[in-house]
Amino acid sequence: MAEAIIIDGKEFSSNLRNKIAKDVETLKKERNVVPGLAVILVGEDPASRIYVRKKEEMTEAVGMNSLSYRLDADASQQELLDLIQTLNNDPAVHGILVQLPLPKHIDTPTILEAIDPAKDVDGFHVVNAGLLAIGKPTLVPCTPAGCMMLLENNLGSLQGKHALVIGRSTIVGRPMAQLLLTADCTVTVAHRHTKNLEELCRQADIVVAAVGIPHFVKASWLKPGAVVIDVGINRIPAEDPAAKAAGKTRIVGDVDFAEAVKVASAITPVPGGVGPMTIACLLNNTIQAARNLTPVS
Ligand code: NAD
Repeated sequence: MAEAIIIDGKEFSSNLRNKIAKDVETLKKERNVVPGLAVILVGEDPASRIYVRKKEEMTEAVGMNSLSYRLDADASQQELLDLIQTLNNDPAVHGILVQLPLPKHIDTPTILEAIDPAKDVDGFHVVNAGLLAIGKPTLVPCTPAGCMMLLENNLGSLQGKHALVIGRSTIVGRPMAQLLLTADCTVTVAHRHTKNLEELCRQADIVVAAVGIPHFVKASWLKPGAVVIDVGINRIPAEDPAAKAAGKTRIVGDVDFAEAVKVASAITPVPGGVGPMTIACLLNNTIQAARNLTPVS
């Protein structure tokens, strides 16, 4: 069997960001609106700081306004709630994102539910989760939204396909399963208590792996010709012995890519697959929120 098509999320997301930049121009011309995305970071978590900086750079690169808010790690929950309230009421802000994880003394669900659902560009508010669950998605969590774009670009219609989602987190697995269901797939959701995972995997036309375990999904589990979307981002020691000894690491996915590529018909690499789609979908959600909040007069 020929090797799989490598689904290039870098290129796809770059094209999507170019389209978003044009949408920003159109919004400016037609509605006199510059979409504004507010990003709140509480504390100094190094990985979160990198993510937030990347989001802010890309927001500016497509011509949107990036509004940054940094709170100290010991900021109170009320301080954060007050800031969210101010942003909810600010007409220049169309999207609000609170970078997770939050410090332990802050209750994450309370914070996420304080965000105006119309500005909830992460799609984590219960109202948006509920709309997704009844098949009327509005602002959809960014990572699954990106996975759907890659799948539809590769397969066209997903109707009637059997999709297996491995993982049931609220940010990836669950919304992914809802989106696949809305796209008329037959959906199986697997999690840490699932039995016979290999058997389930062998029946799937589409496998979405969102587990967080390096190289978890083996090539021998896959149905020949399956389309594989690898959401995992796992840091493991570098391959090269000298680099490994120096403590260097590399990023791998949840799928044994080197072998899976020989069985699948298409597969996302890690890095360069799903990862780059997430921020592009965040910007896409911000455009959508800005459109919804500023109807043409
Ligand atoms: P999570 O830890 O919240 O959820 C993991 C899920 O995997 C759980 O539902 C759990 O039940 C399931 N699981 C664990 N062990 C299992 C097993 N043995 N068999 C079957 N299921 C099992 O993780 P998450 O936030 O959903 O993230 C999953 C992965 O995706 C991580 O590697 C994360 O870094 C990555 N991720 C990537 C992006 C991106 O932009 N590409 C975004 C979010 C998360």
